Amino acid sequence: MRHAHFEALQPVCPACLRRGIESPLQLAPGALEDAAGVSSGLLRCAVLDCGIAYPIIDGAPILVPDLAGWLAANGHLLLQRHELPDPVEAVVAAALGPDAAFNVIRTQQASYAYDHYGDLEEDGGTPAAFGPPPGNAVPGNCAPPTPTPPQPGAVRRTLAAALAQLPATTGPVLDIGCAVGRTAFDLAAASPGLVLGLDLNWPLLAIGRGILDRAVLSYPHRRLGMHFERRRHAVSFPGGERVDFWIADALALPFRGQTFDLAMALNVIDCVSAPPRLIAEMARVLRPGGGAAIATPFDWSSQVTPPDAWVDGPAALETLLAEVAAQARQAGVGALVQSGPARDLDWHVRLHDRAAMHYAVHLLTASLD
Ligand SMILES: [Zn+2]
Repeated sequence: MRHAHFEALQPVCPACLRRGIESPLQLAPGALEDAAGVSSGLLRCAVLDCGIAYPIIDGAPILVPDLAGWLAANGHLLLQRHELPDPVEAVVAAALGPDAAFNVIRTQQASYAYDHYGDLEEDGGTPAAFGPPPGNAVPGNCAPPTPTPPQPGAVRRTLAAALAQLPATTGPVLDIGCAVGRTAFDLAAASPGLVLGLDLNWPLLAIGRGILDRAVLSYPHRRLGMHFERRRHAVSFPGGERVDFWIADALALPFRGQTFDLAMALNVIDCVSAPPRLIAEMARVLRPGGGAAIATPFDWSSQVTPPDAWVDGPAALETLLAEVAAQARQAGVGALVQSGPARDLDWHVRLHDRAAMHYAVHLLTASLD
């Protein structure tokens, strides 16, 4: 946790926030810190009848409303060692089996890291098994199929499309559901203010934190099945010193109202239990005139979002935005209003050398009235 972000953003207790109280958090004595920031310590709620102490681990404060529940579900991930040599990891992974959390997690890390950072690979992230783009096939020829290779950078292209429709800003920027973090670095390159990336998924966020803390991008690249290769790159992104990554809940953003100039939620709204609440939280933490972007492939899962809360397509998303804005106006608080045209963008999710998924992602931009 960088000192600059803690001091400028003044996070509040997410548990008290749910009771309508904006209670500041204070860094408890005894933290491990240096000029760069706090690597471990406690952030304590100042309200006496709350007093929750939120840990900072590996530089990431854990600011979630149900701290005990999150730690019970995720603590083993925080305490897991970072890396093993490929041959050692392969033996351990094979023994655990493909359905073990270890393998599920690194499969997810591989897909996200490929999209965010695949451009840094020497082969541009294009796996050898995919051929050249279609057009070379000869009708009637029995040549093997050569599917179009998945293109990394979908999340970055979506961000760029959003920024092109939003006003330039100088204040703090929030990247909600930032995963492995490339968009936070892109936001820092595009604006002069502080950028904070939030995610609840520590194995993803840890890849971004590794860039902040060690200037190294390190992730498992999945070839096929349980065959992974560790990829490592020394990286430095312009403005990276203004980026920080915290663990926080998109539905309980641990900030006072009107803190940020921009709030991005790229492929997040179909990963939360209450989509209207995400929009309301974005509106709450934005300053008047602030900009927001919501992108989604409408890829709902009943394990995350109750089916009766699913938003069925672009028109329904625009209706939801308008409904949340109407509620905000009734409550006398700022409302997020669509600004600029809605867009559909290509989004590939690379699974392994021979498989990728292809989504059409819908992007809406909005500004706070
Ligand atoms: Zn509290």
